Amino acid sequence: MINLLVVGTIAYDSIETPFGKAADVLGGSALYFANAASFFADVGVVASVGQDFDLSEIAFLKDRNVDVMGISVDEGRTFRWEGRYGYDLNQAITLKTELNVIEQFRPKVPDDYLDADFVFLANIDPELQSHVIDQTKRDATIVLDTMNFWIENKLPALMDVIKRVDMIVVNESEIREITGEYSLVKGAKRLMEMGPHYIIVKRGEYGVLMAAQDELFLTPAYPLEDVFDPTGAGDTFAGGFMGYLANIGDVSPETIKQAIVMGSVMASFNVEDFGINRIKRLAYNEIRERYTAFKRCIHFSDIELR
Ligand code: AMP
Repeated sequence: MINLLVVGTIAYDSIETPFGKAADVLGGSALYFANAASFFADVGVVASVGQDFDLSEIAFLKDRNVDVMGISVDEGRTFRWEGRYGYDLNQAITLKTELNVIEQFRPKVPDDYLDADFVFLANIDPELQSHVIDQTKRDATIVLDTMNFWIENKLPALMDVIKRVDMIVVNESEIREITGEYSLVKGAKRLMEMGPHYIIVKRGEYGVLMAAQDELFLTPAYPLEDVFDPTGAGDTFAGGFMGYLANIGDVSPETIKQAIVMGSVMASFNVEDFGINRIKRLAYNEIRERYTAFKRCIHFSDIELR
């Protein structure tokens, strides 16, 4: 039985960073997410790929206990994204988005996934995200991600879905674009007025800011010597974050803070190699070691003020 459902894209990405380039590599928001979350939870994926997609490329997900029954092979070509990063690795520049099969996609949540307590609406058309909420159980914890493409092309549908979710995970340029507020704290307040209780703002190498009604929480990103490819860092963060929540099974503020740290640990691995490669070969022991190193970086003994 799965306890964490994700709907999003499975893609062929063409990526250029200052350190290399690759064409038609496996990617997509749902794939990055599931790959990371599978270390902590039983994940089910709802996504659409085209007839050009080579299913053997995602066979490794089954070894990770990811349920792929919800992936449909549909008529047309697989979703494609082309992006470039300059030396500011925090900001992806989208060169091309080809929706392809996503244009006709109507996600159907398999019966086996309907009891999932945790649902991640990864980056995809907000109309499809709403259609998934219609099918999930009432008390599920629903977390939303999006991207400038949808903010610019489907804002009314995005606003409708924001009202229906418990938490939002967005990056800092996206929250500014959605709310029109430069201040992340004010932007988070605007989003909370619409319904969600937790707003999690991803700030690339500067870490994460979480805002809730009565709290603010911050973590830096793990300071790596080399960052190779930031593609999918946001989805990998979300995979570690929600995988941890689903594993612990609660959404108390303290668990949410721990989940943010675990998401940050997972994202730190993702950027060390192209595409999904690093998380694909990741071992659980490495997660433990990086968590310990991460904790050491942000821990200090209490200061006694007179
Ligand atoms: P991230 O770097 O975590 O924001 O996500 C990168 C992944 O998002 C890539 O693998 C892309 O295939 C996927 N992606 C890019 N644009 C979109 C879009 N408009 N909708 C859904 N997924 C997208």
